[in-house]
Amino acid sequence: GNQQKLVANILLLGAENVGKSALTVRFLTRRFIGEYGDIESIYSHIDKIDGREISFNIWDSLYPQNCVAPESISDKQLQWADGVILVYSICDRSSFEVVRQQVHLIRQSRKMSANAPIIIVGNKRDLQHQRTVSSEEGRLFALSADCSFFEISAAETYHGVLLVFHELLELIKETRALK
Ligand code: GDP
Repeated sequence: GNQQKLVANILLLGAENVGKSALTVRFLTRRFIGEYGDIESIYSHIDKIDGREISFNIWDSLYPQNCVAPESISDKQLQWADGVILVYSICDRSSFEVVRQQVHLIRQSRKMSANAPIIIVGNKRDLQHQRTVSSEEGRLFALSADCSFFEISAAETYHGVLLVFHELLELIKETRALK
């Protein structure tokens, strides 16, 4: 079969403070450290899944401050990405609005292939008592936008984070198979 190395470029987007870095670090190290610096980075990580070598490149983007359209996404990021993880916090409504805007921006842009997969992630599921975005609302929006959907807690478990990245990898493989 086709066992050559697979490269998956994954772009993380969303408002600030939603847990993009926490998700990335969880996936890379299985750990949650609590505080993350404000640095924009691309991390490379080689994994073996079902006997096949996968090279993950993860772009942990920085949500810009003090600009007119902070939700905008650069063409460079979209051209680079094979798939996108859009993160919001279930206890920050404005971060959910950012995800809604970013989905539309990605779909309108012709920079990324039209069938490139997008996963919407509602993070901080452990903060139930502060929840302002219901699971239902997140799930229904993702459905309407033709995106996969997960609610997770990067702080509490590795498992949910792993599922998100593995699902995106599966979707990326499917889009490649279509070409
Ligand atoms: P980013 O700006 O989107 O990269 O967000 P960070 O990864 O820096 O996380 C922002 C803050 O939220 C940090 O203080 C994290 O410790 C915290 N955080 C991230 N994920 C979770 C989570 O699942 N639950 C809780 N309670 N806090 C989280």
